[in-house]
Amino acid sequence: MSNNKFKILVIEDEINICNLLDTILTTNGYQVIIAGTCKDGITMMLSNVPDLVILDLGLPDRDGLEFIREIRQSDVTPILVLSARNNEKDKVKALDLGANDYVTKPFGNAELLARVRAALRNRRTTEVEGVGEGMFTLHDMTIDYARRMVTVGEEEIKLTRTEYNILEILSQNPGKVLTYAAIIRKIWGPTDDGGIKKLQVNLANIRKKLGSKPGDNKYIINELGVGYRISEEN
Ligand code: CA
Repeated sequence: MSNNKFKILVIEDEINICNLLDTILTTNGYQVIIAGTCKDGITMMLSNVPDLVILDLGLPDRDGLEFIREIRQSDVTPILVLSARNNEKDKVKALDLGANDYVTKPFGNAELLARVRAALRNRRTTEVEGVGEGMFTLHDMTIDYARRMVTVGEEEIKLTRTEYNILEILSQNPGKVLTYAAIIRKIWGPTDDGGIKKLQVNLANIRKKLGSKPGDNKYIINELGVGYRISEEN
């Protein structure tokens, strides 16, 4: 299937990375436009209306985090962050500001393309929100939102209220890493102490009930030190 209806804006100042991204994405049928600074990125964002932004955080004029902060005031276009360092703090900040996902440099082609597909899928789900039939399926798992019911194969999975709510939030954000803080805020409110421990315990229970083995990424992927995401590939 051709991807060329999708336009991807790459905001990156390193020419080698720009060329690499251009090659990978163009070869796979995406349309690529490139900005070398945050300022040009914002201009091209408005004039070209891309379907996805791939954003380097270390830009010559401004911090990429500022791009996210500015764009997210009025725009929901998926943003995939390129992070040079394995810097959890920057990733968490980017995600909390509204980035959808991140890829750490150096990245593999397959990984990058998988993240791009997932982010674009997320965009489509966001657009049709509310008109779906209220079901989410991933592998053999189904979530029926109206009945708050989760099944794996034929078997109904008994989740606690909190466990269900966490799974529902993750499933409604495919292709997006939700940071620990973002999930905790949604489940227990902004002032909760010790939320991360509670979240980890709940996540472990959800995975166990779904039949996931430790370290198994079938339904939920643990992004160590950052947060959780629902698995992308059906
Ligand atoms: Ca850079």
